[in-house]
Amino acid sequence: MNNVLLSVLLIISSALIGNFVIYGLARRRTPGVYYFCLLMTAMIFHSVGYAFELLSDSADIMYIWIKVEYIGVSFYPFLIMMFSREYTEEKSFANRFVVSLVLMVNVITLILVYTNNHHFLYYSSIAVDYSPGFPILALQKGIWYQIQVFFLCFSIFYSITVLMIKLKRTSGSYRNKVLFLLMGVTAPVITMMLYLLGMGPVYLDMTPFSYFIMSISITIGLFRYDMLVLNPITYEMIFQSINEAVLVIDSNGMLVGFNNVSKEFFPSLSKMKIGQSFELIEELKDHNLDSVNPVHDICGRIYSFKAITMKTHRVRIYVANDITESENAKKQLEILATIDSLTGLYNRRYFMEQVERFGSDGVFVIIDLDHFKVINDTFGHFEGDRVLSDFGILIQHTFPDHISCRYGGEEFAVFLAETGLGEAYKRVETLRAKNSKGIQSCNVTFSAGMTEYHIGSGTVSEALIRADQKLYEAKERGRDRICL
Ligand code: GH3
Ligand code: MG
Ligand code: MG
Repeated sequence: MNNVLLSVLLIISSALIGNFVIYGLARRRTPGVYYFCLLMTAMIFHSVGYAFELLSDSADIMYIWIKVEYIGVSFYPFLIMMFSREYTEEKSFANRFVVSLVLMVNVITLILVYTNNHHFLYYSSIAVDYSPGFPILALQKGIWYQIQVFFLCFSIFYSITVLMIKLKRTSGSYRNKVLFLLMGVTAPVITMMLYLLGMGPVYLDMTPFSYFIMSISITIGLFRYDMLVLNPITYEMIFQSINEAVLVIDSNGMLVGFNNVSKEFFPSLSKMKIGQSFELIEELKDHNLDSVNPVHDICGRIYSFKAITMKTHRVRIYVANDITESENAKKQLEILATIDSLTGLYNRRYFMEQVERFGSDGVFVIIDLDHFKVINDTFGHFEGDRVLSDFGILIQHTFPDHISCRYGGEEFAVFLAETGLGEAYKRVETLRAKNSKGIQSCNVTFSAGMTEYHIGSGTVSEALIRADQKLYEAKERGRDRICL
């Protein structure tokens, strides 16, 4: 193989790795991706530098390209460690001290490579060898070279260990993801080991060639099954621009994506990462999101859930909508539609509905305040309202176990279910007694008409008409009385 062909291959693989970097940067939210992109960028420096090193024919120019290579190569130990640390969330071994130490060694490496001519600590000798058929740098390894290699092995060993632990702990599609990552990390290790052990071409470093395999493998591993494989525009559109919370779960119940809104709705998500179990979401763990009509009260807010299964991606998407305001408005409307605001009793329409729904025999009573017009005229409309409101409370207290309503202006109705006429009469007399005790400031009497109601013999409306006729009779006979 000649040097031009090798260089061309290196440039092509660098360009492809460059695509992975762009692809990865658009999906930075996946743990570890950020450092993986930096690692791939380092590989590009290495590969491109090496491609030009192979094309150069003097030691000085070759060494300039080595300096370019080392902008990337120097930081391999640090970046490999950071990538695995972020992905596996292993931070107890690779703590800040260890990470800082590795970074420091890498920075020193870069400095020593750039100043090697003054101390020969990194390369003890630099010469050009023509034996492969094209000029190639023959480098003797110095002390610091060994240290850098030690740290590289150390960080690779760390990566393989933590990824294997992660592999043991994960199942299903996530296991496959970790396997791809492991394979990716191992690819350059094998070539690097062969190179270090002196196997393979003598002065030809094959490691840059394995980066391509590593990049493909890790990219597949990182992004496989993720919602993030959608194109970025669709991703942004679905995830960030809508007001609903979107949670994406894979077939093993692992979170593969969630948007910012979901963190607002379910705060425990802020501490979670992609790849963790869906069951770890504190706010949702006691709720069945797959029930027929999933509306859940979570931390004082009401959410409606919709579950969508995407067979193509083997994921399930939950969309949660905060419906607290609309539910409250609905309740408010229901109250407005059923309750009379002045007295707090049911309105006439809802009263009839309730009686029909209750479906029992009983007694209807219609009560009309006597000469109410005079109250209004004497004390004013406002005072009239107060009397009506007080009378409503009196009705509620006297018939707490029966259905009552404000039937009209100064008229009220009560349905005494499963009660006979005699008993009902006594109850209305009780009302009269309470009312006459002067509960209200102005003395108001009332007239009442009552009638029995039997299911199957006439409608509720017909019974009410009969009660109204009895009320009319009470008025005719001088008011302040009950007719039945
Ligand atoms: P009767 O003994 O024959 O029932 O005489 P009345 O004056 O009570 O009857 P009428 O039907 O002539 O008048 C009813 C009055 O009730 C007239 C109306 O202004 C008053 N009214 C109806 N609804 C309200 C209300 O919401 N607030 C007040 N303050 N007055 C009301
Ligand atoms: Mg009236
Ligand atoms: Mg009246």
